[in-house]
Amino acid sequence: MENMSAEERLRAQGLRVTPQRRLVLERMLQEAGRHWTADELHEALRAQLSELARGTVYNILAELVRVGLAEELPAREGSVRYGIRLAPHHHFYCEICRLWFDVLPPGADALALAAPDRERFHVEAVDIVFRGRCAVCVGRTPR
Ligand SMILES: [Zn+2]
Ligand SMILES: [Zn+2]
Repeated sequence: MENMSAEERLRAQGLRVTPQRRLVLERMLQEAGRHWTADELHEALRAQLSELARGTVYNILAELVRVGLAEELPAREGSVRYGIRLAPHHHFYCEICRLWFDVLPPGADALALAAPDRERFHVEAVDIVFRGRCAVCVGRTPR
C-alpha cells in the first residue's frame, strides 16, 4: 500500500487515470506530510503542465478527498489545506507559521465517547488537532 504509484492508487479507488490527476497525486506523494492550499499546488504544477487550470486542481482535490486518498483540513485564518492520506494520523497546527504537521499521538485509537454522548452521536471519524508552536517557531514571538 505504502509503495503504490499514483496511477495504482487512482485505479484502486476507481478513478480514471488522467495526466492532471496523476500529476496532482504524484506531487502530493513526493511531498507526503505537506499540507497544501489548492493555489499552492496549482502554482507548483503549472511549471510541469502549463495548461493546468486552477479549477481543475480544485476539482481533483475534491475527488481525492471523496475517495479517501487525500484529507481536507479546515481553514484557520488562511485557506483550506489538503494532504495525502497514506495512513491514519492526526495533526499539530503551529499558530505562528500556520502550518499543519502530521502526528501519531499514542492512545488516539482508543479514544471514544462515553455515555450519555455515546447514545446521542454516531461517530464516523476522530480528528485530533494539537495546537501550539512548532520547533522552528518555539523561540519566536507571536504576531
Ligand atoms: Zn511554526
Ligand atoms: Zn495530514
